Amino acid sequence: MQSFDMIVIGSGPAGQRAAIQAAKSGKRVAVIEKAEVVGGTCINTGTIPSKTMREAVLHLSGYHYQSIYGVNYRVKEKITMGDLAFRVQHVIKTEIDVTVAQLSRNNIEVLFGIAGFVDPHTIRVTSVRGVAEYRAEMIVIGTGTKPAVSTKVPINGRNIINSDQILQMTQIPKTLIVVGGGVIGVEYTCMFAALGVRVILIERRPRLLEFADSEIVEALSYHLRDSRVTLRLNEEVSSVEEMADGAVVANLESKKKLSGDALLYAVGRQGNVDDLNLAAAGITADGRGRIPVDADYRTEQAHIYAAGDVIGFPSLASVSMEQGRIAAAHACNKTVHSNPATYPYGIFTIPEISFIGKTEEQLTEEDVPYEVGLAYYREIARGQIRGDTTGRLKIIFHRETRELLGIHIIGDSASELLHIGQAVLILKGTIDYFVETVFNYPTLAECYKAAAFNGLNKLARF
Ligand SMILES: Cc1cc2nc3c(=O)[nH]c(=O)nc-3n(C[C@H](O)[C@H](O)[C@H](O)COP(=O)(O)OP(=O)(O)OC[C@H]3O[C@@H](n4cnc5c(N)ncnc54)[C@H](O)[C@@H]3O)c2cc1C
Repeated sequence: MQSFDMIVIGSGPAGQRAAIQAAKSGKRVAVIEKAEVVGGTCINTGTIPSKTMREAVLHLSGYHYQSIYGVNYRVKEKITMGDLAFRVQHVIKTEIDVTVAQLSRNNIEVLFGIAGFVDPHTIRVTSVRGVAEYRAEMIVIGTGTKPAVSTKVPINGRNIINSDQILQMTQIPKTLIVVGGGVIGVEYTCMFAALGVRVILIERRPRLLEFADSEIVEALSYHLRDSRVTLRLNEEVSSVEEMADGAVVANLESKKKLSGDALLYAVGRQGNVDDLNLAAAGITADGRGRIPVDADYRTEQAHIYAAGDVIGFPSLASVSMEQGRIAAAHACNKTVHSNPATYPYGIFTIPEISFIGKTEEQLTEEDVPYEVGLAYYREIARGQIRGDTTGRLKIIFHRETRELLGIHIIGDSASELLHIGQAVLILKGTIDYFVETVFNYPTLAECYKAAAFNGLNKLARF
């Protein structure tokens, strides 16, 4: 039986980074991948396709320029699913090539097939080529997640779909029902709304994106409604049916009926553990297929680690990469420093949202004396030049120590802009940094200075 120092199950962001970290530590590493290509949900069905589709939508719809040239401005008059898929497929292919090259450069062996435990150190790989068994001293599980299913929603891959199937739609619907007001549901809502689709978004909870700052979510909700999105909050779907004419009807618990040309079901994801035979390794996943781990990403078995979406929140590619790296470093007795409290969030709605640190609600709950500095993109020359006059940046800082506690942005390039504040926050800088620093002009980064002045002016009253 062939043996390795480390076997990594799954070639998504968590698996890739775990494998590379172990290889850099001089270990013999194999990655086992069930799909036909490497890259996982991130490259093939989730992050990369959705972010590329968003870019294609923004470009072809002329969205960013409509505030300058008028709402009828378009780069392409009739946008098709084919236009969107074209750009997506190009980027997916390139990203797969980059990943294959990275794994190969690090002498990591990639074995294609379905991995399952035989015992805590032995993995069986089943593929069309046959069955083989491999042994490893250390194992990292990075098998990710798949869209959750519901008996109430008969997914058919045509007009009742999950987020993996978006590009299978042959045409852009006139009306789209989106079930689920989490990140995936809201991101696709924004993309289709920017294409002129009437979107009805159904969410069980009273607000969208409940882990984000409420002021930012309110601003997003305003934008959604302004883009003709109907928000059905506090509503639950009781059943979904396809009518004889091809329309899709969502029946709600409240007895409302909503009709559309297509329905996207985006309520939660389920850990990919069914094939793993975890019992043979002495590991138990929870009801949603999530594997419990400790702070070093070790499972119940000290030599078996789990990282990425399969361990649960926050289920981001950015964080999955880091968890994979930390897990493998720990397994190889290397020390790495990483602080989950300073992991950023990027939500690629339109406009995009990004944040780090605490929200106002959390700080109020914790009785922390804080103040807020706000800047609006419209006050900044770059905001006017870009045509984004609704964006805003909010710095939350400690009233006494003036240290940064949180940064919350909604607007163009929010996910890039955040990293300036992230650096200051992680290095324990104070709000004064932004006042004392000269920023390029005209840039959106100037929002930091404007927000800092705004916040410090509020302190000056006392
Ligand atoms: C629509 C969508 C949009 C997203 N947008 C963003 C975003 O903008 N930013 C962001 O940071 N994150 C985003 N995410 C989340 C991101 O995609 C995930 O956090 C990330 O892919 C998780 O990485 P992972 O390595 O844990 O798992 P995955 O990427 O899911 O990879 C797991 C791999 O394991 C393989 N596998 C599973 N079981 C087995 C087995 N038994 N044997 C062998 N192989 C197996 C799978 O085939 C897969 O290739 C998005 C997700 C979705 C669905």
